[in-house]
Amino acid sequence: MDGSKINNKSVNEEMLLEQGYRKYSGDGLDIYYSKDICAHIGNCVRGNPDVFEVGRRPWIIADNGSIEDDIRVIDTCPSGALKYIRKDEK
Ligand code: SF4
Repeated sequence: MDGSKINNKSVNEEMLLEQGYRKYSGDGLDIYYSKDICAHIGNCVRGNPDVFEVGRRPWIIADNGSIEDDIRVIDTCPSGALKYIRKDEK
């Protein structure tokens, strides 16, 4: 699922926070996560355990991966629970 969009519309922070996503800031990329939408499939944790580690606080550390790799993993999330906003494209 495209982590930069919801219903084919580019996401923005206001929209995501309104929909209950929580923000995990990184230098070049912010990752947003909705625990209500998460289906606990685990693609994120398998995709890059340095970035996504269940049980750690915070469980998402965007800067532990490159921007490109973070996006690659986020796009494997099947439920839409993970979204991202690139900061270098604003
Ligand atoms: S890939 Fe998406 S649905 Fe699966 S555990 Fe991670 S956040 Fe949840």
